[in-house]
Amino acid sequence: MLALGQDEIAKYPFLADAGQYLKDKGFTLEQFGSDPDLKQLVDKAFERIRVAANGKIYKSDLIGDQVSKEAALPREVFSFLLAIVLLKLSGMHTLIKRFALAEARRAEKYLEKDLANISDESKKELAIRIIDDLFSIQVEKLDDYFVIAVSDYLKHSINFHEREWKLINRHVENGQVFLTPHETVRLIRKELGTYINSKIINAKTPTMIPGFEDSVNKLVLLSKKFITFTVTTGEYPPCIKHAIEELEKGENLPHSGRFMLGAFLLSKGQSVEQIAPLFKNAPDYNERVTLYQLNHLAGTSGSGTQYICPSCEKLKTQDLCFAIPECDNIINPLQFGKKRK
Ligand code: SF4
Repeated sequence: MLALGQDEIAKYPFLADAGQYLKDKGFTLEQFGSDPDLKQLVDKAFERIRVAANGKIYKSDLIGDQVSKEAALPREVFSFLLAIVLLKLSGMHTLIKRFALAEARRAEKYLEKDLANISDESKKELAIRIIDDLFSIQVEKLDDYFVIAVSDYLKHSINFHEREWKLINRHVENGQVFLTPHETVRLIRKELGTYINSKIINAKTPTMIPGFEDSVNKLVLLSKKFITFTVTTGEYPPCIKHAIEELEKGENLPHSGRFMLGAFLLSKGQSVEQIAPLFKNAPDYNERVTLYQLNHLAGTSGSGTQYICPSCEKLKTQDLCFAIPECDNIINPLQFGKKRK
């Protein structure tokens, strides 16, 4: 277990041992439900989840990477730990997934800043140790870059379909891949999300704590907003199924993938209102923007042109093609499953 200073626990609260932290601070969960002063932290925890559920990153009480006031550290850590308690009590897995992802993106910002810190060597070292401890990636600083072994790079970049992440497009020397601080932490985003998610899933579910009921009920209501309608049918081609699965997992489907999916489903006769909920799990989901973009694709706004689904050829170059024998040399996903003349 890493030894963390007070600023570090506030930045990376998922590294704290929750039970121990509460015990060390001399609190019990029951006190948070009954003491009016402590109750505010339960509201703050609810807010932290609500912000995450909406695909945003919780705005912390930290200024730069320092605790703003003496009281801010406990608030930061307690709101995270209480958020986990609320999530466990609600049992809403959609919210847990979205919370873990948003917290991973929040930590990612601090990790990137710590890696790039040139005035305080200890911050950089801690960030490197966190990456090593959690994901077994040995990162070393080399001039302005961070380098990792090719084998580690390949193992962790497997989830990226964009061309810039292909090894052939990277600066490689002596078996080491060169990365900027941003790329180094971007590489572990998914695993960081999975790590936080599994920490929450594996945490013990307490029995209902008096004073927590309201927040838990509100979470159950909130989660209803994020129930997706599965529109996958056996007739959809693998590229479309893959895009839908990525969105359902809360992954950040690239713009080209969203374009393909929207254009495909519109061509299949689905309405903008039927398609929009599919995008609700995207980490950057914004209802207004999604509706605007779908209406644009449908030709009901903007130039009035309805866009058609890109060709298989084009989708291959965008790393969106996951061809199977049934694709049978078709030239557009819209032809999938239709008998060829
Ligand atoms: S061949 Fe065409 S339909 Fe099949 S997965 Fe690739 S892009 Fe989709």
